[in-house]
Amino acid sequence: MNTHHRRSDASGDLLIETHDLKRRAGQMIQVARDLPAPEKLGVDMIGVPEGSPIGLDLRLESVIEGILVTGTATTTLAGECSRCLNPIEETTSFDLQELYFYPDREAGEDAYRVSGEETVDLEPVLREAVVLSLPFRPLCMPDCAGLCPECGVNLNDHPDHDHEERIDPRWAALRDLGTEES
Ligand SMILES: [Zn+2]
Ligand SMILES: [Zn+2]
Repeated sequence: MNTHHRRSDASGDLLIETHDLKRRAGQMIQVARDLPAPEKLGVDMIGVPEGSPIGLDLRLESVIEGILVTGTATTTLAGECSRCLNPIEETTSFDLQELYFYPDREAGEDAYRVSGEETVDLEPVLREAVVLSLPFRPLCMPDCAGLCPECGVNLNDHPDHDHEERIDPRWAALRDLGTEES
């Protein structure tokens, strides 16, 4: 792992300075930044491994109510196929869009806020975007054939694998000795 941690708390890198926007509607800044993934970004079966790079490509626009953040986060997902249990690793992009309200603006309880020090904290937004777009049942490929329900052989590697109609288990044992490579 060659990510350099300048801070022990990786989430600090997800704080974005918005001072340059000076609260003038119509102002815009671009932020491109690579940072290590914070811990536990994902769900049990698939997620972004802690410390693996996330590339942020964002636009911060000053609007009347606050700061509108739009853009993408590109990163690598790692996990396990829900059918065949093979490891999955794929590069993917998440769309981010969130309005951060200025502290003195009225907004709902769970609205995101620009902090007093003129920063926006991207971590909760990134978390939400990642978790919402993760596949509920991750697959190594769209038509993964899974495992044989009878013997557990990976059907992707053995497309012709078949159990003929139930044969006497003693015969099956003999046959397996001859054909099964483990
Ligand atoms: Zn699979
Ligand atoms: Zn089988």
